[in-house]
Amino acid sequence: MITIQNYINGEIVNAQSNEYLDNYNPSTGQVYSKIANSDHVDVDAAFQAAIIAQPQWENTSAEDRFRVMNKIAELIEERLDEFAKAETLDQGKPYWLAKNEMRRAAQNMRFFATAAMQFASESHATENKAINYTLRQAIGVVGCISPWNLPLYLFTWKIAPALAAGNAVIAKPSEFTPMTSYLFSKICIEAGLPNGVLNIIHGLGPKVGQAIVEHKGIKAISFTGGTVTGASIASIAAPKFKKLSLELGGKNPNIIFGDADIDKAIKTTVNTSFMNQGEICLCGSRLYIHSSIYEQVKERLIEAVKALKIGDPLDDSTRIGAIVSKQHFEKVLGYIELAKQEGGKILLGGEAIKPDGFENGWFIQPTLIEGLDSMCRTNQEEIFGPVISISPFDYTDEIIEIANGTEYGLAATIWTENLTLAHRVAQRLQFGIVWVNCWLLRDLRTPFGGMKNSGVGREGGWEAMRFFTEPKNVCIAL
Ligand code: NAD
Repeated sequence: MITIQNYINGEIVNAQSNEYLDNYNPSTGQVYSKIANSDHVDVDAAFQAAIIAQPQWENTSAEDRFRVMNKIAELIEERLDEFAKAETLDQGKPYWLAKNEMRRAAQNMRFFATAAMQFASESHATENKAINYTLRQAIGVVGCISPWNLPLYLFTWKIAPALAAGNAVIAKPSEFTPMTSYLFSKICIEAGLPNGVLNIIHGLGPKVGQAIVEHKGIKAISFTGGTVTGASIASIAAPKFKKLSLELGGKNPNIIFGDADIDKAIKTTVNTSFMNQGEICLCGSRLYIHSSIYEQVKERLIEAVKALKIGDPLDDSTRIGAIVSKQHFEKVLGYIELAKQEGGKILLGGEAIKPDGFENGWFIQPTLIEGLDSMCRTNQEEIFGPVISISPFDYTDEIIEIANGTEYGLAATIWTENLTLAHRVAQRLQFGIVWVNCWLLRDLRTPFGGMKNSGVGREGGWEAMRFFTEPKNVCIAL
């Protein structure tokens, strides 16, 4: 059985407690590896290594930082199959999807490797009096904490800009999906990343994650995960005046207007609703369809979703894999029960299923529910599973108000062929990202993140490079 160990000061080491946690394969429900059960002692050891390594890393030429980060990207690409298989076994997602995500993990490393060479700051000429310029220096040692839904994809999305900007990093992947970050640590050694520049500590959130957030020497925290965890992190980090970037939950609307290209909208909506078993923070869990096309779209969507194959995540024809953990599986099923109590009518799915050969795995049918009030809990709380609620609407003002009517503000999708309507609605939606006639079309230079309870700050491109640097104004009198 594989043992997932920590990566500290360039070495793969056990947790100092010598204790381990079980790691499950969600498609079989079986323990298949062990994870280091680390704590603040391991975080301290990582910090000692990081604080020594950081100044040298910051002073390494941008081109050399580029080279080593790009080498890591190349090594992920060389081992794409190995990484994708590991992600699938660990997370439950279909293998073809894991492959796409591993490509993106490599792309994250390469994108920010090039950012290391391109990042520049501003200069301001103050009339005849002075020249001001801004130094953007590395913060020092920073903490990156990532979730289980897109494990290596989101892990690299954080550590890559942190490293590119010259910081040393202490990173904590989710205890539900530690495998690919463990493989990643081996690649870092092979690529020649200097010792201590990146340290990866495995274990439980309230132990390792909290130790990172509480650590006096760690000056910035980049966190992606649930809103409740984000609030707890903020309450610890704020009085210590740490820089914070929080990417949190969502309850995203997907709005199909009456003039939409229905074929395209339905094809994409199947993914928007159910890709990765609905376990993507950007998935649209509230589908609103103009009443003029409601019945037609509903029937066609049901037919399209019925065709999705559920089962063996390693089978290329599988579209819906397993739910990441037993606890999350039970939470999602609990929400389906709640939806029924709230008066929802199950149009499709609504049950756990046991695919042949995977009877002990955690699988849930893709589920469509109609007839729910926009303010009920099912339509307000993040379910984060293969469950969507669908409703008709008549008026643009009405649907904008409903779409904006949750505590979250991560991403919205709209479908219309009317350019003016698209621009007007996009302006009024209170979401960090608005997709028009597409979904999850990403350009890594754009600001990524949410409004309201979906987060604080933005990732991506220069936003991430700015987050991981401290701006300093130098004013020189003429
Ligand atoms: P989570 O909040 O339970 O855990 C996220 C990470 O935080 C894990 O590594 C966990 O170990 C750690 N953690 C847990 N408790 C902690 C604590 N007290 N202190 C410090 N760290 C702690 O979230 P999850 O269940 O892993 O992920 C699902 C959530 O993530 C969903 O709400 C989803 O919407 C959100 N998410 C958001 C985005 C985004 O970009 N906005 C992207 C992906 C996922």
